[in-house]
Amino acid sequence: MQQLNSYLSGRWLYGQGPAREIRHALTGEPLYQVCSEGLPLADSLNYAREQGGRALAAMTFQQRAQMMKAVAKYLLAHKETLYEISYQTGATRSDGWVDIEGGIATLFAYAGLAGRELPDDTLWPEDEPIPLSKQGQFMARHVLTSRPGVALHINAFNFPCWGMLEKLAPTWLAGMPAVVKPATASAQLTQAMVQLIIDSGLVPDGALQLICGGVGDLFDHLDYQDAVTFTGSAQTGRQLRAHPRLLEKSISFTMEADSLNCCVLGEDVTPEMPEFALFIKEVCREMTSKAGQKCTAIRRVMVPATQVEAVKQALLQRLAAVKVGDPRLEQVRMGALVSLEQRDDVQQKVELLLHNGCEPLCGASLQSFSAQGDDDRQGAFYPPTLLYCAEPLRNGAVHDIEAFGPVATLMPYDSGEQAIELALLGQGSLAGSLVTADAAVATRFIRAAACAHGRMLVLDRAAAEESTGHGSPLPMLMHGGPGRAGGGEELGGLRAVKHYMQRTALQGSPSMLAAIGKEWVRGAEALESPVHPFRKYFEQLPIGESLLTARRTVTEADIVNFACLSGDHFYAHMDKLGAAESLFGERVAHGYFVVSAAAGLFVDPGVGPVIANYGMENLRFIEPVKIGDTIQVRLTCKKKIRKPQKNAEDRPHGVVVWDVQVLNQHQQAVALYSILTLVARQQGDFPS
Ligand code: NDP
Repeated sequence: MQQLNSYLSGRWLYGQGPAREIRHALTGEPLYQVCSEGLPLADSLNYAREQGGRALAAMTFQQRAQMMKAVAKYLLAHKETLYEISYQTGATRSDGWVDIEGGIATLFAYAGLAGRELPDDTLWPEDEPIPLSKQGQFMARHVLTSRPGVALHINAFNFPCWGMLEKLAPTWLAGMPAVVKPATASAQLTQAMVQLIIDSGLVPDGALQLICGGVGDLFDHLDYQDAVTFTGSAQTGRQLRAHPRLLEKSISFTMEADSLNCCVLGEDVTPEMPEFALFIKEVCREMTSKAGQKCTAIRRVMVPATQVEAVKQALLQRLAAVKVGDPRLEQVRMGALVSLEQRDDVQQKVELLLHNGCEPLCGASLQSFSAQGDDDRQGAFYPPTLLYCAEPLRNGAVHDIEAFGPVATLMPYDSGEQAIELALLGQGSLAGSLVTADAAVATRFIRAAACAHGRMLVLDRAAAEESTGHGSPLPMLMHGGPGRAGGGEELGGLRAVKHYMQRTALQGSPSMLAAIGKEWVRGAEALESPVHPFRKYFEQLPIGESLLTARRTVTEADIVNFACLSGDHFYAHMDKLGAAESLFGERVAHGYFVVSAAAGLFVDPGVGPVIANYGMENLRFIEPVKIGDTIQVRLTCKKKIRKPQKNAEDRPHGVVVWDVQVLNQHQQAVALYSILTLVARQQGDFPS
């Protein structure tokens, strides 16, 4: 039997002591021995902090994003190796796709998000400056910096690839190294992916380490800059969260635990409506994909009492058509559970439910069940199991016991209020969905039940075709849930990155804040130059370079011409009487005229390094511009983001964000905004 090595301090190592076994989920054949006893686990934390952490923290967000994109591409090119191993865990090709390619897609998504939104720097100014004084010389802003610690990620068996990558992506972006401890039952797949990443040579030494086996006394060596995340059972999570070292050092701990997610059929839905079929399909898919071993799977199926019979028949019919067996067989739709232990655990939980107010509608027993391709009954197969609980308000077990397999319980409700009450009995869930065609039903339910859910899906015929489904966490959406679901938050776009960084409220003068943040802020010193900023290449433009333009007096002809050109004859600009009674008391220039006239003042028209204007942000009109007012513009280089050159043929460039202040003759701001331009770089990334 092969020994499954850990990867610690740059070496592949195997422990000494009693080993645990990983068996093939389909055949029961012993595949690997796992042991981490006696390995220098504590040293791996220092190695991560000293090697990986330093290297990652020295890279800018843009460089980290580039690294992650390269890793994602590399993994995609080697995905078939991973699919081969994924079958050993009982997964079908589509289960494997969610885990393997879903994980890689998450890495790509974070690389893309960071590429678009994060600075080419190691410090992240989180929000706009907050004025704290009358003269404008004392202000504050929140900044995020990398913590010199290590993230310990303890993962669940059900998503050995996605579970690792969805946490690695924000961790690496934050500039933090990680030690990953996969669940033993499917650790061979995580290990194969880690090996690919290490072999790629794309990540710095110490950025990623792996423990196959137990974590020993690792928790005792964690420090206040470190972070721990946990995905798994609520019971283990509670135990780890209470570790004295975490409490003593205030070490951040994020937990994502199993939850009893609900799917509710709206009171308005009848069997003839398309929503009814959508409901049946969604429940079936969530029960059977990944053989129900999903933290977001539907466990509680709530339907109006009048529809119980119809739902029961439709679900039973659909579940009967699901072929269970060896996932390599073409006709098979559902594979095995990860291990015989897990199968026994599911059986035990089902029996508990049956003793606590539930009755079986299908499945629920291994007797007389045989899976395709499992002739000698060694595979960890379990039949799709639908239970019925006639009195869900009187039987707490159905809201408390999670059978982590293809198991769900159908239950009736009498009114919309009761549906809400039942949903809340889950005590906090990762995901919940409502299938309805009635916006009023949806509004009532979501407003009352959102407090207990991390993500909610409202499914109707309009959303159905493009819906990503009840069970799919997406990189840009929050994944986590209150209470029983662990109280943690993962993903949710760039929010997740912040969990691994330190937020500091930085106070000082505008010039200090601009220097530290490498981003010009209003009130900071501006640099003037005899050369127009539009005549400078990306590399030649310093942050804070500023242009004060010539002035322009706005005339009635300007307003009339602009109204005719744009077709905007709004009374405040064109109707003397209407304008006299308006907020302004007289006719004023169009805001869009002010913005256009401002461009006319600051643009240098000749062919030069500025390639394009691609947007505007945070536009505010502060004061009206009246006939006879004189405007002038201050244009200042606020921040620069160097963009990598994709092909040798592309023109190398970066994004320059300019602060624009349009002032009147009293030096009052009339309009404030930023514009974004693409500016050519002199130096490309490819040798010429
Ligand atoms: P566990 O909570 O036992 O394990 C989760 C992770 O924690 C694994 O990596 C496990 O490692 C590790 N672990 C266990 N004990 C310790 C410890 N004392 N110190 C450090 N790490 C520890 O869950 P299981 O994987 O056994 O699954 C059990 C149940 O959990 C399932 O039946 C299901 O109900 C739920 N679950 C929920 C998931 C979710 O996403 N919310 C996902 C998977 C399971 P090792 O495997 O080596 O023991």
